[in-house]
Amino acid sequence: MKNTIAAIDHYIQGRVVANTSGRTQDVFNPATGAITGRAGLAAAEQVNAAVAAARAAFPAWADTPPIRRARVMFKFLELLNRHRDELAHLITAEHGKVFTDAQGEVTRGIDIVEFACGIPQLLKGDYTDQVSTGIDNWTMRQPLGVVAGITPFNFPVMVPTWMFPVAIAAGNTFVLKPSPLDPSPSLRIAELLKEAGLPDGVFNVIQGDKEAVDALLVHPDVQAISFVGSTPIANHIYETGARHGKRVQALGGAKNHMVVMPDADIDQAVDALIGAGYGSAGERCMAISVAVLVGDVADRLLPKLIERTRSLKVLDGENLAAEMGPIVTRAAHERITGYIAEGEKEGAKLLVDGRSFKGAQAGEGCENGFWMGGTLFDHVSPEMRIYKEEIFGPVLGCVRVKDLKDAVDLVNAHEFGNGVACFTRDGNVAREFSRRVQIGMVGINVPIPVPMAWHGFGGWKKSLFGDMHAYGEEGVRFYTRQKSIMQRWPESIGKGAEFVMPTAK
Ligand code: NAD
Repeated sequence: MKNTIAAIDHYIQGRVVANTSGRTQDVFNPATGAITGRAGLAAAEQVNAAVAAARAAFPAWADTPPIRRARVMFKFLELLNRHRDELAHLITAEHGKVFTDAQGEVTRGIDIVEFACGIPQLLKGDYTDQVSTGIDNWTMRQPLGVVAGITPFNFPVMVPTWMFPVAIAAGNTFVLKPSPLDPSPSLRIAELLKEAGLPDGVFNVIQGDKEAVDALLVHPDVQAISFVGSTPIANHIYETGARHGKRVQALGGAKNHMVVMPDADIDQAVDALIGAGYGSAGERCMAISVAVLVGDVADRLLPKLIERTRSLKVLDGENLAAEMGPIVTRAAHERITGYIAEGEKEGAKLLVDGRSFKGAQAGEGCENGFWMGGTLFDHVSPEMRIYKEEIFGPVLGCVRVKDLKDAVDLVNAHEFGNGVACFTRDGNVAREFSRRVQIGMVGINVPIPVPMAWHGFGGWKKSLFGDMHAYGEEGVRFYTRQKSIMQRWPESIGKGAEFVMPTAK
């Protein structure tokens, strides 16, 4: 049989460009373990070509009236809706997540494009008439120039769409560096943008790894960097980007807790833990990885949770009955199984061991895929590595605490601060929890509180470096800078030079 391994290359100046570095990375179908593509890994030369294309496209695009830029976004929105399932299949093929989950990912990306369609309103400035006699003052926001996005493997459509629709609608030009683990959706997005009427050079894709990222970080023509990925890399991006004079927002890793209060609806809490712990095989930055069981909750909740974890439908992502798909790579699989062994060694009680799950159980052809089942630990404590570190897999740990105060103290002491949830039927508990918890995104009876397109996404502490969150109004602020204009017309001048600080007259 003919080998059909496709080259997955770059997209510069409105067309696919073959990789010239000589370096590539294999792309796998995690369900089967087969190599399905080969991503080019750009060297600085091709990164520079993408930045040059974006720089050349910037003046005309920035001068295009916002309403015309918005019309391109409207057309892109229409195309995304039409190609939603095609993009979802691409995600499942390289990431492994179940198809319905991939559809949801594309839909959350579409939300941001809808938000970006409102850019004329979002860019509308402030105006004050008569700040002093005959003088008006107004502010406007202007695009920065070339901006770059560096994105993780776990949402190959949604996370790029946290960035480029707002950046482009605001008048910037964009270079996307997606994860080399699932690079194909980014190229399809580029084609759809072109079909929507986006001028060549406004959106470019560079496939690559650290070498490409480092070239972007030091490039003098890149004005801003948006990054989403793990905390050590986020830290590196933030420091290096800032040292090179760039505006940086770098979103990092997470360890998200879900607190279950004694008055919570236990069945609802179990549903929430199963979906948020094992959905997308736990490879979500908003996945719940710690269940904080308050008071007597453990005795009532754990028997149900054990049963549900054991009966998770772990199947090929293209099987519509699937609840959980494979792990993204063999290396990630090894990391996760290593953490499970470590948890046992540290003294946590292993209630369900996902390591016994074999690929053959997931469907025909899955024997060599990167499979495991859901894992559940009880009696996890704060000094254990499985509590402190991000496992980023289908491993849920339960910590038992006495009361709400202990639950909040536990959450607040953790170095990550991305998401958190509290399940309760008590309004005052919900209010106190929301106010006291040191976390960027809070869910009350909502396990994965990913903010909607117009609210903005971002954690606190080690989950975000920089101060501005992704998308929403903060996204618009991140991708624009404010200019203040104070104006007076000649007939009001003629009283001679002024040497004191101007004040209202
Ligand atoms: P990662 O940090 O390994 O990679 C992210 C990006 O950085 C990729 O494009 C990758 O090619 C690049 N990269 C990797 N190593 C690099 C290096 N040494 N120098 C420069 N660039 C490098 O993350 P991942 O494994 O792709 O994604 C999972 C991580 O992302 C998890 O930690 C997860 O919590 C996090 N994440 C966070 C959010 C959030 O909003 N906070 C959202 C999604 C994912």
